[in-house]
Amino acid sequence: MSTISQNNQRKKDMGLKEDQEFALAACKRLVDEFPAKLIKKESSIADRLVKAKLSPLKKLEAIYELLGEVNAYFAPSTPCRKGCSSCCHFAVSVSEVEVQYIEARTKYKRLNRLLPTEDYHGKACPFLKNNSCGIYSARPFVCRRHHSLAPTAEWCAPERSFAGEFPQIKSSELEKAFDALRVSSPVWDIRQVFGA
Ligand code: SF4
Repeated sequence: MSTISQNNQRKKDMGLKEDQEFALAACKRLVDEFPAKLIKKESSIADRLVKAKLSPLKKLEAIYELLGEVNAYFAPSTPCRKGCSSCCHFAVSVSEVEVQYIEARTKYKRLNRLLPTEDYHGKACPFLKNNSCGIYSARPFVCRRHHSLAPTAEWCAPERSFAGEFPQIKSSELEKAFDALRVSSPVWDIRQVFGA
């Protein structure tokens, strides 16, 4: 015999498992069907940018542009949509080059002094306004890289995010290109730099 709350918990566990399997299948399909032109661009971006005579901000822009193309390919398979801001309620890492990019492309400037670090789980990013990103075209790498492949955004909510792990697709060469740009920078949370 089981109680109503045990039954509800079992239903939730089943839903989680099904959604994890859904996300895993989506990952496999998206990797298998990754367009050849994107494979070509992605596989060479780290080497191309090391050799390119471009400023760090231009290199970051090239990384963001390619991430935009990759995200356009993922778009039909992700529940990530304008107006969903669950992932804006977690820690948001930024490095020096990303801070400079935000300062160069938006009206926002860093604080004179870094704020102390905190637990940011469940706390909104300071750039989140009416459930939209106020610096969308200049948002950091971590905001562009994240996309859920679950059937809905249910598990992205901060209060459910510890329920279970979901598979993610990572672009190794884009990560490598980005790591090369931020190699000598500390990593802060966006709230430490721009205010909470
Ligand atoms: S920078 Fe924009 S996308 Fe990133 S967490 Fe903040 S509001 Fe969300």
